[in-house]
Amino acid sequence: MNDLAGLIEPLVALRRDIHAHPELGFVEHRTAARIAEVLRAAGIEVHEGIGGTGLVGVIRAGDGTRRLGLRADMDALPIHEQTNLPWQSTVPGCFHGCGHDGHVAMLLGAAQALARDPQFSGTLHLIFQPAEEGQGGARQMIEEGLFERFPCDRVYALHNWPGLPAGTISTRPGPIMGAADKYRITVTGKGGHAAIPQDTPDAILAAASLVQQLNTIVSRDVPPSAFAVLSVTEIAGGHAHNVLPAEVMVGGTVRTFDPMVQDRIEERMRQMLRGIEASFEVQTGLDYDRYYPATINDADAAADALAVAGLVGHAELAPEPAATSEDFSFMLQQRPGAYIWLGQGRGDNPPPLHNPHYDFNDEVLELGMRLHMALARHWLRD
Ligand SMILES: [Zn+2]
Ligand SMILES: [Zn+2]
Repeated sequence: MNDLAGLIEPLVALRRDIHAHPELGFVEHRTAARIAEVLRAAGIEVHEGIGGTGLVGVIRAGDGTRRLGLRADMDALPIHEQTNLPWQSTVPGCFHGCGHDGHVAMLLGAAQALARDPQFSGTLHLIFQPAEEGQGGARQMIEEGLFERFPCDRVYALHNWPGLPAGTISTRPGPIMGAADKYRITVTGKGGHAAIPQDTPDAILAAASLVQQLNTIVSRDVPPSAFAVLSVTEIAGGHAHNVLPAEVMVGGTVRTFDPMVQDRIEERMRQMLRGIEASFEVQTGLDYDRYYPATINDADAAADALAVAGLVGHAELAPEPAATSEDFSFMLQQRPGAYIWLGQGRGDNPPPLHNPHYDFNDEVLELGMRLHMALARHWLRD
């Protein structure tokens, strides 16, 4: 274990420093500056300002032609931390509740160790992306030429996973995280006196009927073997007991793994809106936003990841995907690769991701480093 001697302790300190100074998506200025500083101190070439605050470190070794990308995300969440840990957030309402501070530290640690002693032949791209939490930082980096400037034949990303015990590494071929869509529907009547309903289309009644109908899509239009969730999470309209409002808003989210199922749900939603218009004499508008696609692992990349994981920890084939989403999906649409869960659970009931009591488990920092290093040495060989 002494190949990493002297690296772990400063990395834990760095992880806790980043934790204490969290930054939201696309404003990770301090975090990005710290990353660049550590990479440069290790003699690694650094390219900043890709996708806003995103940056890429490059390590070349030997004369191998293979190229690998390893990704870490850098952003925090708009949550108020409640851990009371000595390194807790110093920014009210902002918190590393998804462990991206740990992701940064693990990739930086691997970068330091590999710069010192590569034991590979080829080019390694260390991708630090902004704004994973809903703002599509990965897509932004891709649009700004990430893979043209830093070609990768394969890409991997690790995410800490509180539901798996520390020491376990898990992934699967095919879908691993869901597609996330959000929709916002406006139902428009004309507004009028509640006592004269015959003159005023009832947008409230139309919206109520719509909510019922939307909840039949998954049970009636999606095959029982497919995964889908449709939730109505918002409804707003009306302010007075004697006024029929002119407009009601209905909103929510859709989660799927299969683009055909995703298409079908949106199509049925549009058909239902036409029916609502006809039966209630209202107008409707739909804003349907597919903000994150499903995260689909390449079968070979996932198999390699599991084989490599078995060399450094306990590897486990994940039995099913998670319904949450991840913008590494955009990178996997461009390049074959895999998204890997790194178990970090401790105790019986560890706080889940995005919980105000969550914290990254520093005990898995070394394992994450070793996994990054092993992935690089496995792929970047002659
Ligand atoms: Zn998250
Ligand atoms: Zn996350």
